[in-house]
Formats: sequence, structure tokens, C-alpha cells
Amino acid sequence: MTNWTENASRDLMSVGGRLAMLTHGEGSAVWDADENRYLDFLGGIAVNCLGHAHPVFVEAIAAQAATLTHVSNYFATPGQLELAARLKRLAGTGEQGRVFLANSGTEANETAIKLARLHGSKHGRSTILVVEGAFHGRTMGALSLTPKAAYRDPFLPAIPDVVTVERSLEGLAAAFRHNDVAAIFVEPIQGEAGVVELPDGFLARARSLATEHDALLILDEVQTGSGRTGEWFAFQREGVIPDAVTLAKSIGAGFPLGALVTFGAASDLFYPGTHNSTFGGNPLASAVANAVLGYIEDEHLLDNVNARGEQLRAGVAEMPLVAGTTGAGLLIGIRLTAPVAAEIRAAAHENGLIINAPTDDVIRIAPAYTIGDAEVEEFLTKFGAALAAVAASAPTPTETPA
Ligand SMILES: *Cc1c(COP(=O)(O)O)cnc(C)c1O
Repeated sequence: MTNWTENASRDLMSVGGRLAMLTHGEGSAVWDADENRYLDFLGGIAVNCLGHAHPVFVEAIAAQAATLTHVSNYFATPGQLELAARLKRLAGTGEQGRVFLANSGTEANETAIKLARLHGSKHGRSTILVVEGAFHGRTMGALSLTPKAAYRDPFLPAIPDVVTVERSLEGLAAAFRHNDVAAIFVEPIQGEAGVVELPDGFLARARSLATEHDALLILDEVQTGSGRTGEWFAFQREGVIPDAVTLAKSIGAGFPLGALVTFGAASDLFYPGTHNSTFGGNPLASAVANAVLGYIEDEHLLDNVNARGEQLRAGVAEMPLVAGTTGAGLLIGIRLTAPVAAEIRAAAHENGLIINAPTDDVIRIAPAYTIGDAEVEEFLTKFGAALAAVAASAPTPTETPA
């Protein structure tokens, strides 16, 4: 055993990263410093959509690094223009859409918060609505839009005029009753909350209320976007057109990159001097995203996302401790009949399987879009073994005293 934990405790800020020290990966497998192999079904939290060390990813970085890596936001580059046009096409913005390129999900959301402010200030409105259970990121703006007390409260005061909406159609209608809403932020599926789906009709109602009140509908698709749910964007599953959508996670398949895509009049809100980023839209990140998104498209990987998602859902449905599944495509929440997600995650890790436990009764998986039968079978075997190990040691709900 290497003594990496000692170094981590001594040198790293105490915010995480203690499960193992990973040294290399290939496809859907990663290895730790002691050469233990893990099947990676978390994918760096819905990021590594082509798995690890995919040749398309590797070649895009190598070729672009040898050509042009960084300029500055005084200049355009071919890859940046190609990526912006591609994102407009995939999002279906039409001619009027615009794209801002950033470096992370939280940064894309910061940009969206500023977009909301620019829109609201035209009407003297500042309220931003967020949905109960939302996660929008860790910087002060995005954190202010994240109602979870454990994440936000140590850093109060947050930015003002953020109101949390109950995750129901009634909650939505009530929140719009005061005519002070500049924008509503919604995740089409709440990944961090435990792959929580919105009630039926929630997005459509958010759209109609936002339109009625001249507020922006801003979708945070940092986790659900870039093909994760089997469509390029989760909103395309609902037939709802937002005013803006944010992306990150899978868009760069492991290279840090984020984006804000606007639709219609929201595209005209920013003007020179109001926003920018040193690294955002750099040639290297743009080249990777173009290669990744181009490959997903050319290889029709979204068909695989849908098919493998179905296969995984069916595979876990009858397993012990499993109450059901949520999510879409390859963003899957496995709901448990008891609050044993942490134990299952740990047992899976011992079996060489990486998954995560966003809440105490949900396991989340977000594997690569490239997985095939072999990976699905290996997952089902290892996950089944982890469930069986925990089921053997934990009381089942019926045995638990009321
Ligand atoms: C991960 C995530 C973020 C934050 O993205 P970072 O790249 O970690 O800053 C924001 N919103 C959602 C929905 C996310 O899943």
C-alpha cells in the first residue's frame, strides 16, 4: 500500500478525494496505485462520456496542443466558432441563438445569473426562483441558488432575492404570484438531489409562467445535457424551449469546459464589457468538445445511451433492496428500500465498482456513452453482489420497528 492518504491529509484542502488514489484508466476501467481495477460507472460524476483515454479525446488534445492552445478573448479561433455553431444547432436555437464558453458548470451558471440580472434590471425585478432540492454549483452566485443548507449556510450571506420554489405545479404557480421574478432556474432532472425527476408538466408550466411574467426560463443542464439523457438536451424530451441553458460535465468528456447557450431575445442581453473569461472558449477546450460531440453524433452514441439505459434499468429492477429507478438515458438513480446507499457504495468499491450515493437511499450511476454488453454485465454482477452483501447485514424495512 502506498501512503498517499497521509500526503493527501497533509497537503490537500480538506474537501474530499479520499476514496482511492487513481493512476490510470482505459475505457470504462480505472486503476488505483496498488493496481486494483475498478469498473467506473460514475464516470467522474457524469463527465467521462467516452470513458478514459479514448483515442478521439487523446488525439484531439495532442493535435490542438501542437497547434494553438490559448490566445485571449481578444481573438476568435476556428474551433471556438465551430463549437458555438455546433451547440446552436444541437440545441435548436436557430439563427438568434448565442453561445458563451466557460470552464465549468458553476461558471456557466454564474454567467446565467448575470443574464438573469441583465434581463430583470430592464423591468426593475431581481427575484430568481430556484427549485427545492436544486444544485447549481459552489461559487457564491451559484451557491446562492443552491438551497441545501449544508452547502450554503457556512457561507451566508448569499446573494439576495433568491426564492426556493416547492417542487410541484402549485408551488410554481404560487412563486410567480408576486410579479417580481427575473428568472427561474430549473434542472430538468436533479442529479445531485438524487436523480430526482420533476413532476409531470413542471417544465411546460415553468415555461408558460415565465413567458406570462416576462421572466427567463434558464435550464441547468450541466449534468443532463450533452447527450446524457439520450437526447442532446433533456429539455428536448419535454418539447419545451428555454431562454437559456447551461452545459458542462460531459461536454468535454473530461476536459474542463462549460457553456451558456441562449435563445431568442435573451441572446441580446450581454454587451461588450459585461462579461468574459480568460480561459473560456480556449482553442484546446474547443477542439476537445468539437471532437467529443462530433464523435457522439457520427457514431450515433445517443442510441446506445438510450438502449444501455433501458438494459441497466431492467437489470437492476428485480434486485434485492431496489425500489425502482429514476432518470433518463445513462443518468440513473437507483432508489433503495432502505437508507443503505453509503454501505452499498462502499461494498461496490470493495468489489471494484465505482458508483455514488447522492442521498442515503439513492445510488447514482452515470457511465460512459460507449458502454457495451460486457460493461453492463460486469456492472450487474458487481452491483448485485454489493446489494447482496448489504442485504445480508442490514435489516430490511419490514424488520425495522415502526
Ligand atoms: C455539477 C453541477 C454543477 C456544477 O458544475 P461544476 O463544473 O462542478 O462547477 C452545476 N449544476 C449542476 C446541475 C451540476 O450537476
